[in-house]
Amino acid sequence: MANEPGSRPSSGGLSSAINDGMTVDECDSMIQRSLRTPMVKFLKEHLEKSGCNIGTNFIKAVHCDKRVSGGYVRGEGIVVCSNHLNIQDEVNQVVIHELIHAYDDCRAANLDWSDCAHHACSEIRAGHLSGDCHYKRELLRGFVKIRGHEQDCVRRRVMKSVTANPYCSEAAAKDAMEAVWDVCYNDTKPFDRAP
Ligand SMILES: [Zn+2]
Repeated sequence: MANEPGSRPSSGGLSSAINDGMTVDECDSMIQRSLRTPMVKFLKEHLEKSGCNIGTNFIKAVHCDKRVSGGYVRGEGIVVCSNHLNIQDEVNQVVIHELIHAYDDCRAANLDWSDCAHHACSEIRAGHLSGDCHYKRELLRGFVKIRGHEQDCVRRRVMKSVTANPYCSEAAAKDAMEAVWDVCYNDTKPFDRAP
C-alpha cells in the first residue's frame, strides 16, 4: 500500500494499535463522515481551486499489510487502512494528513516524491497542519507531551515516513528534513496559519 517506490508518502505512525481496527465498510462510512468536517471540506475546496478535483472514489478504505495508517498515490488517490484504525478521530487525521500530500502534489507540478527533500517538506507540512501532533493524540500514543514539543513529534513522524521511502536513507532523510524544515514548517498554505 503506502511506501512503495517513488510516490507513496505514508501517514507515519500507528495509533496505539491494541485493537484490531475495523472492517473496510466501517472505515468507508467513517471516511464519508470525515468528508463533512470543516477541515476536510476546506482542504477539498482548495484542492479544487488549485485545479485538482476529487472524485467520489478519491479516498478509499482498504486492508493494509504494511504497518501504515494510510497513503497517497499520485493518479490514484488516498487510501485509509481500515485494519489499523479504530475511531473516527483517527480516520479524520489520516484523511487530513493525506489530503495535504494531495494538495502539495497538486500545487507543485514538479514535486518529485523520490526526492527526499520534497518528500520531507510535504511530511513536515502534513504533520504540522493536520494536528497529528496535538498533545491529546501524543498522550494517547504514550508520548508525554510537554509544552513546545510539537516540533519533536513532527520530526519523529517525518523521519518515520521519509526513511520508509526507498530512495531515502536515514542520513539522507535527516539532512533533507533539516534543510527544508524552516521553509516547510512555516508554509501553512492553504491555511492562513497552522489550524
Ligand atoms: Zn505523510
